[in-house]
Amino acid sequence: MDCKEAQRCIHLFLKDELDRNTEFQLVEHITSCSECMEELTVEYLLTEGISRLENAEDIDVQSELEDRLNRTITRKKVYKQLKAGLFLVGILIFFILILGGV
Ligand SMILES: [Zn+2]
Repeated sequence: MDCKEAQRCIHLFLKDELDRNTEFQLVEHITSCSECMEELTVEYLLTEGISRLENAEDIDVQSELEDRLNRTITRKKVYKQLKAGLFLVGILIFFILILGGV
């Protein structure tokens, strides 16, 4: 994903409207691109900050955004492990079938 695409996805990410795959790609890009990270911070402040001000709530942009990114990253890791796990189970079943057939 390049910066242009990332910045197009940012407001969708904040609204939780990205599909999982795009979300992973976006977070991957953002965690390695300071420019888009800045863009995300600004967007977050604009969308989140306004509604918080209305409700007179405190806002800690930095840590809230970190939380959010970390959640996506953790989900990605779990998802990867799950996929790897399913792959192993597949191999196991394959061997059981092969051995069972002998
Ligand atoms: Zn970028």
